Amino acid sequence: MAGRQTLALVGIGKIAVDQHVPALAASPDWQLAATVSRAGTVEGVQAFTSLDTMLAERPDITTVSLAIPPVPRFAYAQAALRAGRHVMLEKPPGATLAEIHALQALAAEQGVTLYTTWHSRMAHAVAPAKAWLADKTITRAQIIWREDVRKWHPGQDWVFEPGGMGVFDPGINALSILTEILPAPVHLQSAELEFPANRHTPIAARLRFSGHVTADFDWRQTGPQTWDIEIDTTAGPMALRMGGNVLEIDGAPARGENTIMDEYPALYARMAELVAASQSEVDLAPMVHVADAMTLGKRIVTDDFHF
Ligand code: NAP
Repeated sequence: MAGRQTLALVGIGKIAVDQHVPALAASPDWQLAATVSRAGTVEGVQAFTSLDTMLAERPDITTVSLAIPPVPRFAYAQAALRAGRHVMLEKPPGATLAEIHALQALAAEQGVTLYTTWHSRMAHAVAPAKAWLADKTITRAQIIWREDVRKWHPGQDWVFEPGGMGVFDPGINALSILTEILPAPVHLQSAELEFPANRHTPIAARLRFSGHVTADFDWRQTGPQTWDIEIDTTAGPMALRMGGNVLEIDGAPARGENTIMDEYPALYARMAELVAASQSEVDLAPMVHVADAMTLGKRIVTDDFHF
């Protein structure tokens, strides 16, 4: 199809297969021209096992999308930017804040686009919630984000390795929504983090922010999963449920949650806009809260965790 730019997808794992590949297949903007993965492939797409080889052999590929875990991501992003390619990063954008500052500077130096994606911000009800809150006074907000790590990250030991973020891997999705919809920023004041005795990252976290904002993240919830943000305002309560997909105002479903695109198609459409406009979009606000929780958090040791 004419007009589509070529893109290479790196890391053919869970999220690549679940979301990136279908979004790219339906995209009017992008053609999936190559994959880079030590083991995974996509039918009909040229497969590489090394990023350097792909960059050398496919100079026509303008853009690299990285769907690998955060710790190995920096080296891949740096190599792609140094080779003059636009780069799109899965959330969280890296293992540390300083890494992303370095990538931001490199992208600017190279004159290419860097996009730190936050897929949950593209959920259907996030933009209507932000619009509703824009002129409201918030008196309290509560995030409850409880899910089953065995269901969403089966066997993925990297989430419990240093830099894997533990329960903040899903929790940062809630924080990405919070930082998008609040009319004024908040900051972390205290945190309690529960670490399994045999793991390096927390399995649960309770956070307290300025402005009477709290968050409760837990990775041990079986059965129904909870991804709610409840906000009280002087004009009444509002809630975002189902990970930002359902808006409730005054306890009743509200109209307006009909953003046209799903999360990953919307991310790729945004990447196309950024490349066309020669711009980058780098927002680290959700990750600042996670870094602050790791800095301020009280450590509580809990039961061993095994997948
Ligand atoms: P995953 O399946 O465990 O890993 C993705 C791929 O990354 C793997 O297939 C692997 O490919 C590659 N990889 C793993 N470790 C690597 C290393 N050290 N060096 C190079 N490549 C490595 O993880 P995922 O669930 O797709 O998550 C990837 C990212 O997407 C994370 O940042 C996560 O937060 C985000 N995300 C995940 C979900 C979800 O539901 N799981 C949802 C939204 C966003 P090869 O071994 O084949 O090279």
